[in-house]
Amino acid sequence: MTSAAQEIAAFAEEKLAALAEKNLVRRLAPTRREAASAMRGGRRFVSFSDNDYLGLSQDARVKRAAAEAALAYGAGAGASRLVTGDCPLYGALEARLASMKGSEAALVFGSGYLANLSAIPVLARPGDVVALDALSHACMFAGARLSGARVETFRHNDAGDLARVLEAPAARRIVLTETVFSMDGDRAPLAAIADACAAAGAWLMTDDAHGLGVIDAENPAPLQMGTLSKAAGAYGGYVCGPRAFIELLVNRARGFIYTTGLPPAALAAAIAALDIMKDEPQRGRRALAHAATFSRLIDAPKPQSAIVPVVFGAAEDALAASARLYEEGFIVTAIRPPTVPEGTARLRVAFSAAHEAADVTRLGALVRALIDERRR
Ligand SMILES: *Cc1c(COP(=O)(O)O)cnc(C)c1O
Repeated sequence: MTSAAQEIAAFAEEKLAALAEKNLVRRLAPTRREAASAMRGGRRFVSFSDNDYLGLSQDARVKRAAAEAALAYGAGAGASRLVTGDCPLYGALEARLASMKGSEAALVFGSGYLANLSAIPVLARPGDVVALDALSHACMFAGARLSGARVETFRHNDAGDLARVLEAPAARRIVLTETVFSMDGDRAPLAAIADACAAAGAWLMTDDAHGLGVIDAENPAPLQMGTLSKAAGAYGGYVCGPRAFIELLVNRARGFIYTTGLPPAALAAAIAALDIMKDEPQRGRRALAHAATFSRLIDAPKPQSAIVPVVFGAAEDALAASARLYEEGFIVTAIRPPTVPEGTARLRVAFSAAHEAADVTRLGALVRALIDERRR
């Protein structure tokens, strides 16, 4: 190695050692996913750590649509949508998204992360305030910081605290929250949040990453973004809103202009998935029913989504619980800081229509035993 490479390696090793001390090192595990199961090292596991809430990433119709689109349109997009010309699949996908959200128009991005990173700086600039729910996803914070606006947080799901934050003087006020919170599975009080926004003249954008296809609730937000990578089983992100704003995004969103379009296979998969979502609403209900069964078994409150958190507190306790479940054939990844606040390391159990009821009840009994063991 050159001396610079050695310096970089030493720099990284020091950082990694500090993470190891706090039980916060993360590692990639080679895994082959199937319906709700996964093969690792020759062993089959049932995974409760995917966001594939409807099982659509493994659905034969969705996979076939992806394969056919690759054969018809190619493996890659070639360039940015503005440069190379727009694949006709985009129009079909964006029309479906706009219709699902009751918006005038929609724009698809490379991912949900990229959508937030790109759209928020188009809305806000220095002199403005971006107010986020304190538990908002990392990419909403990243987009807010990139905008140069003042970034404020309000207490989780607290519309009263939002009203307080919105009192501060600002040219424009943008409010960001999630419909379903990714690590807690609870839902935002959207009517109260929208009222606080209306009273302050603020604009609300919601992130529906974990709601699409699972939660069918009224959403008063004029701007709604989300991802095609979770319940839609494919890849990509989107923003829905007034037609003129979507046109502004095409002209201003840097993460739209300066990046290559999605592969046609991802677009076709998302289209097929959205059609199935519409035709088979029972899939979302099945995921929710599994979450309810599991919550009952562990004596947790009735869940508001397909995500159920089991908070252990210390990172090593969450890791130990995850390891015990792994021995029993379940993948339930421990979620640690900084993904969740310090002292709230947890198992995040995500349910899918693809899960079998017997696996849900067996997992519920095992987690129940782990919780009881800690109480003793
Ligand atoms: C996963 C997630 C995203 C990012 O979506 P990707 O398409 O995976 O980049 C954005 N917001 C929330 C709340 C998420 O959970």
